Amino acid sequence: MRARGHLLGGVVAGASVAGVGTLTGHLHGPAEFNWWVVAGTGVFFSLFPDVDTDSLPRRWFYRAVVVALVGLVWMGESRLGIWLAILAMLPLLDHHRGWTHGRWMPLLGPGLLGLGAAFAFRTDPLSVTSFYGQVGSLGVVYFVAAVVGWYTHLLLDGLFHLFPDDPQ
Ligand SMILES: [Zn+2]
Repeated sequence: MRARGHLLGGVVAGASVAGVGTLTGHLHGPAEFNWWVVAGTGVFFSLFPDVDTDSLPRRWFYRAVVVALVGLVWMGESRLGIWLAILAMLPLLDHHRGWTHGRWMPLLGPGLLGLGAAFAFRTDPLSVTSFYGQVGSLGVVYFVAAVVGWYTHLLLDGLFHLFPDDPQ
């Protein structure tokens, strides 16, 4: 599926997670900035898998990465910049529909990213009990948005054979 279809799927997925987050009391509706960031997280991860091929999402992803890297160097956060550069290169290590389109990646990718970020920015020694305290229920909403957005991409690509006629 092309970028436009994935964008539409991502908007539906992101808005759905933000909507459920509002209904369950984790978010306070579209008037809140976090609502849009949660929805945007769903959109981002529904486009992200095609960073591994010549696509519109890839061009915009690497433009944003370059801007972020320049910004991090400017702010003296070179170490964070190196980590961002390493992470941004990972989709280039495989062929199209390689690891970014793996069945368990929508769970593993955001999970490892969240664990890495919680470890890197920890304020107390990290343990299972302190992890939830530091990530918080809002962190879980972001995780769900990333997982649902990423799976939406794989579904629309026909990787689960729900739409067998989808061109590969
Ligand atoms: Zn794809």
